[in-house]
Amino acid sequence: MTCASCQANVQRALTATPGVDKAAVNLMMHEATITFDPSVLNAEKLVAAINDTGYQSHLPVAGADVAAEDEIREVEQQREYRALRTKALVSLTLGGGAMLSMLLMSGSAHGVHGGDLVLLTTLLAATIFVMGWAGRHFYTRAWSSFRHRTSDMNTLIAVGTGAAFLYSLAATLEPGWFVTGSARPDVYYEAVILIIALVLLGNAMEARAKSQTTRALRQLAKLQPSTARVRREGVEEEIAIASVRPGDIVLVRPGERIPVDGEVQSGTGAVDEAMLTGESMPVEKAAGDRVIGATVNKTGALEIKATAVGSASMLASIVRLMKEAQSSQAPVQRLADRISAVFVPVVISIAIATFAVWMIVPEAPSFAPALTAAVSVLIIACPCAMGLAVPTAVMVATGRGAAAGVLIKGGEPLERLASIDTVVFDKTGTLTEGKPKVVEFVLAPDHDEANVLSLAAAIERKSEHPLAEAIVTFAGHRALVGHRFSGDDPPIDNFAAIPGRGARATVEAHQVLIGTEALLADVAIGLGPLAARAKGWADDGKTPVFVAINGKAAGAFAIADTMRANAKAIVAALQKRGIRVLMLTGDRRATAAAIAAQAGVAEVIAEVLPDGKVQAIKSLQEAGRRVAMVGDGINDAPALAQADIGIAMASGTDIASEAADVALMRSDLESVVHALVLARKTMKTMKQNLFWAFVYNVIGIPIAAGVLYPAFGVLLSPILASAAMAFSSVSVVTNSLRLRGVTLS
Ligand code: ADP
Ligand code: MG
Repeated sequence: MTCASCQANVQRALTATPGVDKAAVNLMMHEATITFDPSVLNAEKLVAAINDTGYQSHLPVAGADVAAEDEIREVEQQREYRALRTKALVSLTLGGGAMLSMLLMSGSAHGVHGGDLVLLTTLLAATIFVMGWAGRHFYTRAWSSFRHRTSDMNTLIAVGTGAAFLYSLAATLEPGWFVTGSARPDVYYEAVILIIALVLLGNAMEARAKSQTTRALRQLAKLQPSTARVRREGVEEEIAIASVRPGDIVLVRPGERIPVDGEVQSGTGAVDEAMLTGESMPVEKAAGDRVIGATVNKTGALEIKATAVGSASMLASIVRLMKEAQSSQAPVQRLADRISAVFVPVVISIAIATFAVWMIVPEAPSFAPALTAAVSVLIIACPCAMGLAVPTAVMVATGRGAAAGVLIKGGEPLERLASIDTVVFDKTGTLTEGKPKVVEFVLAPDHDEANVLSLAAAIERKSEHPLAEAIVTFAGHRALVGHRFSGDDPPIDNFAAIPGRGARATVEAHQVLIGTEALLADVAIGLGPLAARAKGWADDGKTPVFVAINGKAAGAFAIADTMRANAKAIVAALQKRGIRVLMLTGDRRATAAAIAAQAGVAEVIAEVLPDGKVQAIKSLQEAGRRVAMVGDGINDAPALAQADIGIAMASGTDIASEAADVALMRSDLESVVHALVLARKTMKTMKQNLFWAFVYNVIGIPIAAGVLYPAFGVLLSPILASAAMAFSSVSVVTNSLRLRGVTLS
């Protein structure tokens, strides 16, 4: 398939097959995904239905993994490219020869010579050969489109070259039909051959450029090592990657690629994760750390327990995600689709009208130029460039993003991202490191520290919240340095997390409440002397967390979280690009304001519960803003989904955080800028592509029709028309490929 109308034809043929529920044909990947009723149909019949349209298809190889599938696709694309190139070069040579001999013939054109007839016959034979061998698929596909009552670029080429050929044939056999006297009428054999040659050459260049647009994805899939060294029952052996099971102990030597996702059991090493996260500095790994399959262990030997293998692995999910993204359509595409749907019939009408006008207008020189103009119109108007304008840009951009650790989930998010004017950052884990620490603890009068800490730790151990972890760590630390805290966990009942506020439970018959001032205030628990301390902490940017036991405030923790080193620079970079930046948090107003001030964020929405975050995004949207929300993807999921664009910071395991449109592979705010810049540049490329593809036709068709002839005597030859056509689609793909090297900061 070479253009959008090819894709549409295959898709239509599939959808029209009885038993098919849904069919989606992907032009760039050369793939079709079909949902059908197995009691009516089978996969072989679907293959036959496609082959019947003049396009070739086959079933995917059973059991092949991503890497193998891509390998097969690559081999196929290479073969397609080479076949096209051979056909193009052979036709080009024959066409060049034909043109030369035509020139020689017209140079001696006085009457009919014996040699002319021999030459004409030779040209006729060469033309038939090129049409039947190199250009065969144009005619078979055009015919099958015709049978399905549709038309596509093949129709234009087939009708254009067909008309030129039939006329030339008639002129060769019965010259008397066209001229009087002994002069020979013009023939267009060389034009037919060269049109086919140039279209094929264009297709070949396009095929090569298109395969470059999918290169990022292929390179990613190739990262997967094919074997792993595992230790089973004390014996080390090298086994195929498909045989590795979760729980296997995998050994990785320095310099080797880590074969599977896993957790380091022993050993240390510096791991280069750049290929997946875009992070250029190697990351130190020791026992307990997570490693990702396909990253490279630079130094030190590692023993890893496999956690995810095969399709469950991080690499496989990234590849899957990217494939989905690349096959999705961007909304701007719809314009191109709508145009190309009516394009071919319109062009054929224009060609007929052109022919008619040339024949009718008395002072115009009649049949030969009429045919030339009509054929040129058909040939120049092939809508290939229009069909390639958007998908090639989406393809290259998503690949470029992945290389920088930014996974954009498709053409539509890409387009929305480009139009964002407001970025809302979550505070904890997004603007800050998300590794909060207890920096101070005060006890209310009449309470025992060991008791309070042990109750607080017991309840927080049940909570997922990052603040909870800080409190547990702090309590554990106190126990180690020999305070009265026992460290043993008391029994706990009725645990309930209160999102955005804290948690509550019954511990050893004590009613324990832990969380915000508001949480305590709700059940009328006053803070007493703790209130003043808490205010001081909050003004300092620290988060106060209160613990109440049996209806009385018992203690307070001051929790501090470090600001990400580049937060301020990133906020400034966004503002410089005209973006309005806000911070959104469930934390106390004073704490939030202090943190925001440090990051250079002027607008803060604080003390909101999780559904309040959704509401906050909504009201920005109602005010006409196009909002991107950046969050850690766990408690921010509803807000990420509500925003026009949800950007999820890397959270270790869950790369594809479902609510998000953009997943960042590393926890670096710089990726937000990268994503935005990439989207804006891609949008620009798409618009350039569409503009040129369209303008080319708007200018090309009238010139081909001969509007310049009356004033300037200029008439476009069909050969030039086909060269222009090939050039326009190649230039569109090339323009998209420029996105590969685009700078993102
Ligand atoms: P953020 O918007 O910063 O991600 P959350 O909405 O998760 O914060 O929580 C808001 C506030 O609720 C926290 O700043 C904290 O004061 C309190 N909180 C929530 N859960 C807990 C918990 N398990 N322990 C202590 N405090 C909590
Ligand atoms: Mg958060």
